[in-house]
Amino acid sequence: MTIDGICKVEKEVYSRRVTPFAGGVIGELYLPSSVEEAARLLAAFCEEAADFSVLGGGKNTLIAGRVSRAVCLKKMNAVSVDGNFVTAYAGAPLSSVVCAAYENSLTGTEALFGIPGLTGGAVCMNAGAFGTETGDLIESIDILTDDSVITLKPEFSYRNCVFPSGIIISARFSLAPGNRADIKARMNYIAAERRKKHPQEPSLGSVWKAVGSVPAAVHIEKLSLKGLRVGGAVLSPKHCNFIINTGTATAADYIKLMESVEAAAYEKLGITLKREVRILYE
Ligand SMILES: Cc1cc2nc3c(=O)[nH]c(=O)nc-3n(C[C@H](O)[C@H](O)[C@H](O)COP(=O)(O)OP(=O)(O)OC[C@H]3O[C@@H](n4cnc5c(N)ncnc54)[C@H](O)[C@@H]3O)c2cc1C
Repeated sequence: MTIDGICKVEKEVYSRRVTPFAGGVIGELYLPSSVEEAARLLAAFCEEAADFSVLGGGKNTLIAGRVSRAVCLKKMNAVSVDGNFVTAYAGAPLSSVVCAAYENSLTGTEALFGIPGLTGGAVCMNAGAFGTETGDLIESIDILTDDSVITLKPEFSYRNCVFPSGIIISARFSLAPGNRADIKARMNYIAAERRKKHPQEPSLGSVWKAVGSVPAAVHIEKLSLKGLRVGGAVLSPKHCNFIINTGTATAADYIKLMESVEAAAYEKLGITLKREVRILYE
């Protein structure tokens, strides 16, 4: 089986098109539109021993160089509801899961409202906010492995999910019946809090993980580095766990700035900051 012709493919995709920062390029970006296409693609990659990366919405991923091949499931984006369960393909925006839950008077996902990215990315990152993590709500996920689709409940930990090597195809959320007006009120509250606390410029969200139970921002605040700039990348004056793009930031700017903050945290506070952002390069 050859890779050519299995599904839509875009060539030489600059990172700024798929993530908020420039400087990287994806040689071939594969966009399967069905499980069958994704399975044939994976089989062809295996046959040709071709390495590949998986990209969701690119909201937590810095593409820092050349990436030969990436697969993105954004065309596989259907969401369905049965009883207390919402099932979403990995390419569905997380927001459409939250909205489907609301429309069907199901509670549980409200705290995830406003987290950018796709369902596959949210599962993989165990994305969370305001006391709820994606993993808390997952009944099972379907993963496409080398030779089959398997259904399982993965192990989740803080901003991490352990699953067999492969591509997450879909996720089934287990929710509870709720009052529609209460769900809406909670979503509005969450949205307002996010607007108040988070910078509105393009970013990849939180750069560093909490240190134990202490948010990284609490430590970084002590370094008085807000506004620190490398090229077009700036440590947000509004929230010091965000690096924002003021227009021309590249992945290299982002990494240099990140390293400066990490060095200062280690030298001045004795703290090793761990990255939440994932960096993609070969
Ligand atoms: C303004 C802003 C606010 C944010 N706020 C939050 C927040 O409150 N809480 C939070 O947790 N995060 C937050 N984030 C980070 C980001 O939104 C989440 O991590 C999100 O879940 C990433 O989803 P994505 O689809 O963009 O994933 P990507 O960045 O594309 O990918 C993330 C990881 O998942 C893997 N992956 C993606 N899809 C699949 C798949 N189908 N199969 C296998 N692996 C896959 C990728 O290989 C990569 O390792 C924020 C980001 C921004 C820009």
